[in-house]
Parts: sequence; structure tokens; C-alpha cells
Amino acid sequence: MMIVNTIEEVRNLIKGWRKEGLSVGFVPTMGALHEGHQSLMERAVSQNDRVVASIFVNPTQFGPNEDFEAYPRDLEKDVALCKEVGVHVVFAPQGEELYFPDKATTVHISGITDVLCGSKRPGHFDGVCLVVSKFFNIIQPDRAYFGQKDAQQVAVIKRMVRDLNYEIEIVSCPIVREADGLAKSSRNLYLSKEEREAALVLNKSLEFVKKALDQGERNASILKAAILSCIIQEPLAKIDYVEVVEMESLQSISGDINCPILIPIAVYIGKTRLIDNITYAV
Ligand code: AMP
Repeated sequence: MMIVNTIEEVRNLIKGWRKEGLSVGFVPTMGALHEGHQSLMERAVSQNDRVVASIFVNPTQFGPNEDFEAYPRDLEKDVALCKEVGVHVVFAPQGEELYFPDKATTVHISGITDVLCGSKRPGHFDGVCLVVSKFFNIIQPDRAYFGQKDAQQVAVIKRMVRDLNYEIEIVSCPIVREADGLAKSSRNLYLSKEEREAALVLNKSLEFVKKALDQGERNASILKAAILSCIIQEPLAKIDYVEVVEMESLQSISGDINCPILIPIAVYIGKTRLIDNITYAV
């Protein structure tokens, strides 16, 4: 496995692979890798001749009061995991490699980024779309792998790929959870012992609502109220949002459900903001 830090190096490697007719998979990450990232990399390795994983804590997707500085970084451990999984190249751009100090281009996908995390984290998806479109242009993969854990991100990236005619298949991978149900996240490292216990309320509330759906409940407002009442029982939890939305458009549903849905939630446990979701095809 190779570790490369410059755009020129990664481009040269990929040019070589292309000459040999090899397919290329790409897994973008911000590092602090766990089994969630691992599942994306394993899928990529199984579906492509060569796999590039990027490790880059992207400053443009963090708001001014968010955790960019505090975000966990452990390149050595991350590199070891990438190697173990069979990734061919780790692309870890450093310093100003990726962004010119006077960069003047933005990538804004409208509508779909105005809701859910987009409304709570202004500019977040502009930062995500800018960095992902740069990676797509540099790497030009056949397939790129994203986690359903960040369901809105998947929807936004798919829209960007469609609207900008990227010839890249977006592969969405299922949420990987801890044994007790908590969705794996690099931010789980921030949780104290009590908070880690309290964080289970996210998955528990989604399990509860899934049972209601299985039993035939189809009213979105009732489902939403059921999740809210579950979460408010946890004193360390503060709700950021709970929604029932159409799977593709992310439009909110208030009445009866008659299409595939996404139920995304964002909850602060202490100071840590966690997200989770379920999808359901009625
Ligand atoms: P991040 O490093 O947080 O930017 O995540 C990189 C990729 O890993 C994103 O596509 C995430 O959706 C995905 N990912 C993060 N956590 C999980 C998880 N628990 N299960 C599946 N995919 C995940």
C-alpha cells in the first residue's frame, strides 16, 4: 500500500492503472477510522481492481463553532487499517495541497441541502460538495463509497453527480453499529461513560418507531411524536431534529406515508451531536 500526499502523485498512479485498464474505487473519509469506514473500504476492494481511500479532515465543512480543531486524528492507526483491508493507496493531502488560499469556487446544491443537517449546519454541504467534487476530479473513480449513516450526504452527493454529469457510480453502504446498537462514529470518542450510555436513546427510539411501522402505523406525525417522546426521557439528550421525509427528495411528510421513507434524527448528548436514521419501504 502507498501513502501519497500530493495531487500530482495520486494522479500519476491512477494514470498508470488506467493504462492497464484497471477499475478504480474511491472511499472518502476524515480519518479516525472505525468498522463503519472499514465496511466501505471492504466493499470497494471487492468491487474494484484498485482502491484509493482519502484521509482528510476537511476544514470547509465545519462551521465556525464546530469541532474542526478537536476532531480526532490518528493517521498511523488509520493507515494500518487501510493496509489490513487491502486499500491500494491512501491519499492524505496536507496543508494547502487541496485548497488555494484565494480559492473562489463554491459547489452549492440547492433545496435538498436546506433541510435536516443542512439547515442546522449552514455551509456544511457546500464544504462537503466542494471537497468531494475536487476528489472526484482528481481521482476520477468508477465507483465512490458513502455510508448510509450520513443519509442526507448520500442524497446530496447523488444529486451533485447527476446534475454535474460525473461518470461515477455512488454506492451507499449500510450503517455499521456497536453491539448495543449505537451507530459507529468518530465522534463517539467524545462521549463520557454516562453519555455513551445515554447515546443509546438514538437507536432505541428508531427501533421503537420501526416496530410501530411493522405493526402498520402509517401516520408520519404519530411516528415523529413517538420518537420525540422516547428521546425526551433521556436527561442527557437534547433534540436537534427528528423528521420523517421522502427517501429521495428529503421532503418532510406530515400525513400518511405511501412511499419509501427516511427517518433521520440528530441529538446532542452533552456537547456531542450524534446522527442516526432508518429507512423504511412501505
Ligand atoms: P467521515 O470520516 O465521518 O467523513 O465518514 C466517511 C464515510 O464513512 C462517510 O461516507 C460516512 O457515511 C461513512 N460512515 C461513517 N460512519 C459509518 C457507519 N457507522 N456505518 C457506515 N458508514 C459510516
